[in-house]
Amino acid sequence: MTKGSKPRRLTLEAAKSVLRGVGMRCTTARIAVIQSLDAAESPMTPAGFVDSLCEYGFDKSTIYRSLTELNESGVVVRLDLGDAVRRFELLPLKNDGASGHPHFMCVDCGKVVCMSGFDVELKGRSRKAREPGIMCEILVRGHCHEYAI
Ligand SMILES: [Zn+2]
Ligand SMILES: [Zn+2]
Repeated sequence: MTKGSKPRRLTLEAAKSVLRGVGMRCTTARIAVIQSLDAAESPMTPAGFVDSLCEYGFDKSTIYRSLTELNESGVVVRLDLGDAVRRFELLPLKNDGASGHPHFMCVDCGKVVCMSGFDVELKGRSRKAREPGIMCEILVRGHCHEYAI
């Protein structure tokens, strides 16, 4: 299993401009959530980063509220990959409400990885498939020890 490398690394200024771009106030909690998700190499469960942020003195409920707000404003997408686990990731700057790239889920260990470098375009013939607001998540399932991109 090779680790996917994410060249992106949001600076404080970049995180602030993301928030300003959607008309949100730049609170330290929101910026911390954005930077945590940006640093992650795969979609994060809240438990995966909330605890570590609490170690920096953030209040748990503040972090969860920030995550919800970021999700509602479209900065962060909540992935629905068919299991009961909530996973979040930062949306690419150009977005249509879905993450825009496929995800790989290991059927053995449940690991989820972003398959960056793949562009997925929804080209449905029906109008519905092109309607804004229709989210398209592509999920590839397999065994992670056999998976290498
Ligand atoms: Zn696995
Ligand atoms: Zn992803």
